[in-house]
Amino acid sequence: MRRLAIYPGSFDPPTLGHLDVAERAAQLFDEVIVAVGVNSAKSPFLTDEERVDCLKECVKHLPNVSVDSFSGLLVDYVRSKSARSVVRGLRATADFEYEFQMAMVNRRLASEVETVFFMTKWEYNYLTSSIVREVATLGGDFETLVPGPVAEVIHRTLRKR
Ligand code: ADP
Repeated sequence: MRRLAIYPGSFDPPTLGHLDVAERAAQLFDEVIVAVGVNSAKSPFLTDEERVDCLKECVKHLPNVSVDSFSGLLVDYVRSKSARSVVRGLRATADFEYEFQMAMVNRRLASEVETVFFMTKWEYNYLTSSIVREVATLGGDFETLVPGPVAEVIHRTLRKR
């Protein structure tokens, strides 16, 4: 059986921490789909399309990783792809409570789906999308925090403002 994992998230914007998790998941699974959660009630920093497009650029060196978007319940999307694994990342302390809760709820909703956690790398422990948004919006140097294709999209977004 092909081992397919879904790596869902907001990725608003994608960071080096996200990319690192995708790269490591690609080594453990036969196929990984990075799935951008689309929520029409929220107004994201980068549009849905921008997030999908720049993620595609970021993972193009990984032949078994693709990018998609989804709305609605994660477990419904996971089932629609006939996947059994969800990949998530964990940074020290801050993520645990929320990630634990989501994994528990998802297991209740779909007991065949297993959530697999990748511990962040030391250097990405304090790296969050919201920090990148804040640094970028306030004119700071965000380029060392995100992959190149993401930096380009952020520059474009800032110029449009
Ligand atoms: P969500 O809004 O679904 O939490 P995010 O885009 O913030 O989506 O994150 C997606 C996943 O990537 C989450 O599991 C999050 O914990 C993980 N993640 C985010 N930043 C990092 C990082 N620096 N290192 C490792 N994992 C991370």
